[in-house]
Amino acid sequence: MEKNDKFDRNRGNRKSRKKVCAFCADKIETIDYKDVPRLRRYLSERAKIIPRRATGTCARHQRQLTIAIKRARHLAFLPYISD
Ligand SMILES: [Zn+2]
Repeated sequence: MEKNDKFDRNRGNRKSRKKVCAFCADKIETIDYKDVPRLRRYLSERAKIIPRRATGTCARHQRQLTIAIKRARHLAFLPYISD
């Protein structure tokens, strides 16, 4: 039972690592499903949506992003998950 390793890694450095949502930073109110180059950045190699923990996208924009990506997929602007 050695749990101390994990605690150690999370210590300190809290303030310098603030990730701001890219959409908020660009002052984007509504995410455009036709903005394919942007949407692509939030898809993994397997065309899966990258979780917001990894991208720093806020809840509001992540929600819009999901909808935009689904719409774009429906219109064949973006690929579906390829396996
Ligand atoms: Zn945002």
